[in-house]
Amino acid sequence: MLRFAGALLTVFLAAPLPEAMAQEGKPLPRSDERYKTDILVVVAHPDDEAAVTPYLVRALDEHRRIAVVFATRGSSGSNEAGAEQAAALGDVREMEARNALATLGVNNVWFLSGKDTATQDVLVSLGNWDHGETLEQMVRLVRLTRPEVILTFLPGAFIGEDHGDHQASGVLATEAFDLAGNPAVFPEQVAGPMKRLEPFLENLRPWQAKKIYYFPDADREDIFRGKGPSYSVKEVSRLSNKPYWRMALDAFRAHQTQAKSYLDKIAQMDEAQIEKMATSEDGWGEDQHFVLGKSLVGGSVSGDIFEGITPGAISYARPEATPEPPRPVLSAELGGPWSFYAEFRRAHGLANLPHPEPPEIALEGPGTLVIPLWVRNQTAKAQEVTLSTTLPAGWAAENGSRKFTVAAGQTAAARVEVSLPALPDKTEKKAVAQEVTVRAEANGQVIGEAKLRVELRKRALPE
Ligand SMILES: [Zn+2]
Repeated sequence: MLRFAGALLTVFLAAPLPEAMAQEGKPLPRSDERYKTDILVVVAHPDDEAAVTPYLVRALDEHRRIAVVFATRGSSGSNEAGAEQAAALGDVREMEARNALATLGVNNVWFLSGKDTATQDVLVSLGNWDHGETLEQMVRLVRLTRPEVILTFLPGAFIGEDHGDHQASGVLATEAFDLAGNPAVFPEQVAGPMKRLEPFLENLRPWQAKKIYYFPDADREDIFRGKGPSYSVKEVSRLSNKPYWRMALDAFRAHQTQAKSYLDKIAQMDEAQIEKMATSEDGWGEDQHFVLGKSLVGGSVSGDIFEGITPGAISYARPEATPEPPRPVLSAELGGPWSFYAEFRRAHGLANLPHPEPPEIALEGPGTLVIPLWVRNQTAKAQEVTLSTTLPAGWAAENGSRKFTVAAGQTAAARVEVSLPALPDKTEKKAVAQEVTVRAEANGQVIGEAKLRVELRKRALPE
């Protein structure tokens, strides 16, 4: 028997090697092409994709591969279509979002573990989302989908850009844009398995996306104009022979829990009536505007989203942080989401990202405006600081005028609470924005001023 085996081996060795066993070796498995995308859309809630679907239809016409990430499953808010609430509503909304996108032929759709948060404050949303965990998931999806371009909500606090979750999705997408190409970030994602069936190491590759664009939610069209490309949504799709806006509206029909009454109304209309209402009143016919966040491949600010993009990976680009501005040894400034965004723009090299000056917010009246302040005392002795607040007529601040001491070398957080009046009955939905100023003084000198433009609305809290 043994002799027979030896004879067989000899014969085998003498024969020429079959093709597959030739010297060049067996190729290692490559990244899965089914998930490679050109455009990765990052939004907060099911139905947020509608902010960009009219452009996505155009991109599909151009044979772009598209994937969408929702940071939450949209489990808060009311349900127009059934009894389901809370986590169960999230289950339903996940399906609605998948169905909406499937209508367009977009099937690569993921949901992060962020929780739907009814807040206007991006920091509250990020806190409730477990920021680190959702960022890790976001970086993983950038490495998996290898987008050329990321499209997301504009990270900023604006009148109109009211939902903290929308802002947070833009923050997360920007962070992932800057981190996914860095092999030192979440290295377990890019490490290869150490043994067969290793269950922990993911074998992804770092990926640097080439451009990031934002779509603003804000009312302040003036400060976004000319900051990125605009696209008409009235052109007719080669794929369906319908205008882009019409395909986007068709996709939106899946969102019954959020818009059943609106969709039922549309279902009763003929095509001419739909066109009239959707394009003149509901904004479906408006051009889509983008703001260029950054491009690592050149191209012009208002040129096409794919201008300058050629196939293939580019090297990781460490974001160019802008240095901290010098501060006097004794200073006071607006804190909260407003100071966060100033730090955020510096950290991510987004010096040109539009932001309102003075900072602004829309709030419900009656209600409360909280103005957070940082007071920094880098002098060698304790300092007495005096706050004074200037308000529009009819507004009141509980602790707007007061004195407190900040110890040597300390940074203190202070806050002023302003009671906002109800809007007069004859006001439609909102009043003209007014300015609130909190001034900080020490040793008879102004050490800082926090100014906010505040618009009163009948309804301002996001759902
Ligand atoms: Zn939303």
